[in-house]
Amino acid sequence: MPHVAVIGAGVIGVMSAYSLLHSGYTVTLIDPAEPGSARASSFGNGGWLSSSLVLPGAMPGLWKQVPKFLLDPKGPLTIDKWRLPKLAPWLLRFLWNGATESRVRPTAVALSSMVGSCPNLHQEVARQIGAPYLVEASGLLYLYRSREAYAREILPWALRREVGATWTELDEQELRFREPNAPDGYRFGVLVDGGHALDPALFVAEVAKFLFANGVRYVKANALDFVFDVGRLTAVKTDHGQAECDKAVISAGAWSSKLAALVGDRIPMEAERGHHIIISGEGPDLRHPLLLTDRKITVRKVASGTKSTGQVDFSGLDAPANPLRFKVLHELVTEAFPLLGEGPERHVSTWMGRRPSLPDGKPAIGRSRRSADVIHAFGHGHIGFASAPETARLVTRLIRKASEEENAAFSPQRFA
Ligand SMILES: Cc1cc2nc3c(=O)[nH]c(=O)nc-3n(C[C@H](O)[C@H](O)[C@H](O)COP(=O)(O)OP(=O)(O)OC[C@H]3O[C@@H](n4cnc5c(N)ncnc54)[C@H](O)[C@@H]3O)c2cc1C
Repeated sequence: MPHVAVIGAGVIGVMSAYSLLHSGYTVTLIDPAEPGSARASSFGNGGWLSSSLVLPGAMPGLWKQVPKFLLDPKGPLTIDKWRLPKLAPWLLRFLWNGATESRVRPTAVALSSMVGSCPNLHQEVARQIGAPYLVEASGLLYLYRSREAYAREILPWALRREVGATWTELDEQELRFREPNAPDGYRFGVLVDGGHALDPALFVAEVAKFLFANGVRYVKANALDFVFDVGRLTAVKTDHGQAECDKAVISAGAWSSKLAALVGDRIPMEAERGHHIIISGEGPDLRHPLLLTDRKITVRKVASGTKSTGQVDFSGLDAPANPLRFKVLHELVTEAFPLLGEGPERHVSTWMGRRPSLPDGKPAIGRSRRSADVIHAFGHGHIGFASAPETARLVTRLIRKASEEENAAFSPQRFA
């Protein structure tokens, strides 16, 4: 059986490694950061799993809202104006891809093939590694100020319905019954059927623990290049020597495009940076993870307190976290839940992650231009966790069978 080097130990990397191990391959996992640590986007995300997560980041009408978002200091979008010239081509492509219903519908259909079996595959893996508790049947609840606000989101919910997602609409009374601690001012809810949630860092760390206990080798290093001999891959070159292999998977999240360029593919990648804060101490006793649709933040009870995620910040892959985004998140969540702003002794932990985003809202999964021995598996944007098991399945099939056809919707060559 070939030896596969998986580059990147975020959720896409560890799930690919898991699937490959399961299929009998020898696997080496390469990452300078330990699996489950904060460098990866997979560390601190919302942890939402649902087959309804099929909308691309750009939807019709977004382009009209961009100026308003940028002028609003509490808005969900930040762009570093000095980066604008560099970002503009990607951003225009992103907005163009989301500008019409006819462009976003095929994207939603393609993404539903990635998340349709979610969370069953996550549960299956959690069971197989002996940690079924990792995936919680929490339900996922979208909160609106009113039924009218919900009704205005016609297209997003129509697309979700078209791909088979189902949900229960909750009027105010039903909402208060199901989620007694929903914040004031929200009078309508949508409870997505089959919604689950997990602690993303713990999930990645536990899968990795299983991998290492079952023969997967971990190389704590940065992958730098690929070594070929007469057209066949023989090793991945790292800053700590070479990792011998016959096949490689590039699953380095937002850092992947540099590696992809080494094997002939120019993939337009941007880090859509997002943030979380966790406020320690007593918080609202929430029964479900929530999305406050007007504030565009998620709120969820976690072991260490109340966690809120959200925001999109295009300040670049290497820029440090933007403290203003944490302040804004804190303001938004404490406005909604004043209890979280009370008491002097609260600790607020902060984190910034880089969503690996391609301008058409879909990942790149397929063979590289230079060699069928190198497989791309990156660019999962807002839904990397939900789509990881299906990505891993596709990666394994591409490695197993040279004749395996790629799904054209995810072909890395679509950007050529
Ligand atoms: C605030 C926020 C909320 C989110 N909420 C959700 C959600 O609710 N549900 C959902 O499904 N998704 C969510 N996402 C998206 C999800 O987090 C990402 O899509 C997913 O984590 C991407 O996983 P990945 O493995 O591709 O990349 P990452 O998790 O970023 O992992 C990439 C890894 O590659 C390593 N690496 C980089 N360069 C190299 C190199 N040269 N050599 C070796 N290793 C390298 C890095 O160290 C890193 O560990 C959210 C994201 C954010 C930021």
